[in-house]
Amino acid sequence: MERLDKILSNLGYGTRKEIKSLIKNGFVVIDGIAAKDNAMKIDPEKSKISVNGEEILYRKYIYLMMNKPDGVVSATFDKYDETVIDLLHPEYQIFNPFPVGRLDKDTVGLLILTNDGELNHKLISPKYHVDKKYYAEINKPLDEKDVEAFKKGIVIDDGYKCMPAKLEIINSSEDGAECHVTIQEGKFHQVKRMFEARDKKVVFLKRISFGSLTLDKNLSEGDYRELSEEEIELLK
Ligand code: URA
Repeated sequence: MERLDKILSNLGYGTRKEIKSLIKNGFVVIDGIAAKDNAMKIDPEKSKISVNGEEILYRKYIYLMMNKPDGVVSATFDKYDETVIDLLHPEYQIFNPFPVGRLDKDTVGLLILTNDGELNHKLISPKYHVDKKYYAEINKPLDEKDVEAFKKGIVIDDGYKCMPAKLEIINSSEDGAECHVTIQEGKFHQVKRMFEARDKKVVFLKRISFGSLTLDKNLSEGDYRELSEEEIELLK
C-alpha cells in the first residue's frame, strides 16, 4: 500500500502540492470513486486509478533496450558528459532506470536499462555466466593463435586471468581485422584490454547481444524501445 500523492508524483503527475489540488478538485478517481484524501493508501497494482478521466498505466518496473551511441556515458549522472539517462523521454526517466552494466563512452550498441535491481544483479554477476557478444574492429591482423589465447583465458595488464572467451574472426588482412568476441564477465575495458594483451588495439567496439537478447536492427544509435514481455522473460 502506498500514498496516493506519492504514487502520482512518482508517475510524473506533478508536485505533491499540484496533486493535492487535482484530488481536491475531483480529478483523481480510484475504482470509480473520486478520491478525497491525498494521503489515502492504495495498492496501485490492484486499484484502477484515473486522472482527468484517463486511466493510468501503473507499473513498477520498466525494461528498455537502447542502441547506445558514441560519446555518451552509461551512468545515471555525470558532471561533464551526457548520460544514457539524458537520452530518455521523461515518461521513462520518472521510473529512475539505470544501465545494466557499463559500456565505455566510445562503445556503441546494446544496453539494457531498467529499475529492476534483482534482474540487474542476475545479469551482471559473473556467477550467472551471461554471454555478452561484441563486434570489434582491430588495428592488426588476427589469427588462430589469438583464437586459442582467448579460449585459454587472456591475462590482462593487472595480472587478472580472464575466463575463457570466444574469438571468431570475420576477416583479417595486413590492414586489420573484424571479429566477434563473446565474454561472460564485465571487467573495466575488458575487451580492449584482452586485445592489448595480444599487442593489438580495438578501434571500434559494438555490443550486439546480451544473454538471449540481440540488438534490434531497427534501432539507430541513440534510439531505444521497451522490451516485450517475451524478451523480459528470456532475460530472467
Ligand atoms: N569491453 C570494453 O573494453 N569496453 C566495453 O565498453 C565493453 C567491453
